[in-house]
Amino acid sequence: MKILCVLYDDPKDGMPKSYALDSLPKIEKYPDGMTLPSPSGRDFNPGDLLGCVSGELGLRKFLESNGHQLVVTSDKDGEGCTADKELVDADIVISQPFFPYYLTRAKMETAPNLKMAITAGIGSDHVDLQAAMDRKVDVVEVTYCNSRSVAEHIVMMIVSMVRDYHTQYAIVNNGGWNIADAVQRSYDVEGMHIGTVAAGRIGLDALRKMKPFDTHLHYFDRHRLPEAVEKELNLTFHDSVESMVKVCDVVTINCPLHPETEHLFDEKMISKMKKGAYIVNTARGKICDKDAIAAALKSGQLSGYAGDVWFPQPAPNDHPWRSMPNHGMTPHTSGTSLSAQTRYADGVREILECFFEKKEIRNQYLIVQNGELAGMGAHSYSKGTATGGSEEAAKYKK
Ligand code: NDP
Repeated sequence: MKILCVLYDDPKDGMPKSYALDSLPKIEKYPDGMTLPSPSGRDFNPGDLLGCVSGELGLRKFLESNGHQLVVTSDKDGEGCTADKELVDADIVISQPFFPYYLTRAKMETAPNLKMAITAGIGSDHVDLQAAMDRKVDVVEVTYCNSRSVAEHIVMMIVSMVRDYHTQYAIVNNGGWNIADAVQRSYDVEGMHIGTVAAGRIGLDALRKMKPFDTHLHYFDRHRLPEAVEKELNLTFHDSVESMVKVCDVVTINCPLHPETEHLFDEKMISKMKKGAYIVNTARGKICDKDAIAAALKSGQLSGYAGDVWFPQPAPNDHPWRSMPNHGMTPHTSGTSLSAQTRYADGVREILECFFEKKEIRNQYLIVQNGELAGMGAHSYSKGTATGGSEEAAKYKK
């Protein structure tokens, strides 16, 4: 079979010759007891850079020794790109949300052999899920592989933004010492009201991680958490996003992107937020209206916006979030720490092994199967597509 793997570019100076850490901490299980990916083998060292082109998700030896063809590229956007050319006879496509290969209906129609799209990570909104259902292309992702990595990033972003770390760091780098400049937007997180839109794996973990800061915690989700969890964290449940954002100093967005959540945070929703609130969005860029966010930062309705997700990706060079005031944006990195890469590379191999050996893929990994939303997909997504406008990614110039 032919496997097309779309990965981000190598480091500018080539692959690392050594790594900061010699080994990764050992993690036995995810918090709910789910086991980590368990492929039959591994052809890389845990902690290696795997998500870029030369890293190949550690798959080449395994695939080629089993008689398959692996094509890896980072050339994924614009007419005539390598990925589009290779797609036409591919059986399986692998792509990462950090650098998504937008698998639109039009692209799928060029690929009659396509059987499966694997997300090396979590969040399969870069695939037109409706088209995948219509064409019976299965969509799977590596559920839980980087959820806790993202929750750590959320904590980093809440604390760094509320305390205004970025300004202070810039002052030091510029040789300065003006403490008044450094602290005029700096607050404590303690005592703040923090709310998450969605309390799934990431949202709930982020709440748990923020609890020791002595904060008041809130959530909105389509399904309510068990009473014991609400009690443990002293959570306030809201039956609408509007009710929650009205009372929160910090709102973190942790739901998947699907037609129901696209542009959920538009001008109207932002106007209902407490004045001067902060948003941390590590879910998907398109859940927020980009111009409404930039305008709210300029007007002071929002005090800060941080996250690592954009639309499209890579974000065009003139994307307003690159230059808006009081932002703490990173490129899409939270779920692709070296620790997470090991887990999702293992997960992709586990999925491929199941597929080749005609064994069942874990139900938790399924988004679309046999023409229907399945597994996690049936629980968390709605039918339709959220890929509209993805061709704008071709505007990014290195
Ligand atoms: P989970 O499936 O564990 O959680 C998703 C939660 O979102 C579920 O609780 C689900 O609710 C809820 N949800 C779905 N639709 C809505 C809605 N309309 N309103 C409110 N809640 C909703 O996934 P994770 O927590 O692991 O990941 C969440 C998302 O984060 C991913 O889909 C992905 O987009 C993003 N992500 C980003 C990464 C990054 O690197 N920045 C890495 C990993 C994920 P219910 O099940 O109750 O219906």
